[in-house]
Amino acid sequence: MRLILVGPPGAGKGTQAVLLASHYNIPHISTGDIFRANLKGGTELGTLAKSYMDKGELVPDTVTNEMVKDRLNQDDLANGFLLDGFPRNVFQAEVLRAILAEKHTSLDAVLELSIDDQEIISRISGRRTCRNCGATFHTVNAPSKVEGVCDNCQGELYQREDDKAEVIQRRLEVYSEQTKPIIAFYRGEGLLISIMALGEVSEISQRSIAALSAVIS
Ligand code: AMP
Repeated sequence: MRLILVGPPGAGKGTQAVLLASHYNIPHISTGDIFRANLKGGTELGTLAKSYMDKGELVPDTVTNEMVKDRLNQDDLANGFLLDGFPRNVFQAEVLRAILAEKHTSLDAVLELSIDDQEIISRISGRRTCRNCGATFHTVNAPSKVEGVCDNCQGELYQREDDKAEVIQRRLEVYSEQTKPIIAFYRGEGLLISIMALGEVSEISQRSIAALSAVIS
């Protein structure tokens, strides 16, 4: 199962990716998580990525594509993978197709999580992320048991710099200008499946699995 999750910031890609990756028993590859892990580890890549992430801009393709290529060359992908946050523009989609073609393989499906703009703002502004394990909560929709503390590992919850109101607007613009065109790209390849990402987390994942099972044997 080689799968991509696409959707605007706040559509719940990260949350659904964790559930779907566990359901299909495939690694969850999130480019945003890899950048944040590098930032936490104080690497050069982390420092470079931060300068773009904090402004809501995309990290340059050369850096991102190389990082994804390295990740896709690791040997834990026998069952496939779930990519979350990559590709984010048509050039990255083309590079991904070429990386997979070199391995004589291709994608099985691209799942689009769609929601409207108002819902996006409310979801992102309430999102809190664990500094330690990366788990996400929402101040209203999915609060942690103890405010500011992760339910899973007791790490500190914080608001991502790029989840602050001033950056959200730019991330939405970047999504519609640069990322949205990949939806038409994958529709053209006959790979696109779209679902409405509204409702309970478990409902959305059941909807996703049902939609995927219709196209993947
Ligand atoms: P995410 O956690 O997927 O929302 O990603 C957070 C930020 O990481 C994005 O706003 C970008 O700055 C950067 N990023 C993640 N994935 C990519 C990508 N495929 N291409 C460029 N930048 C990315």
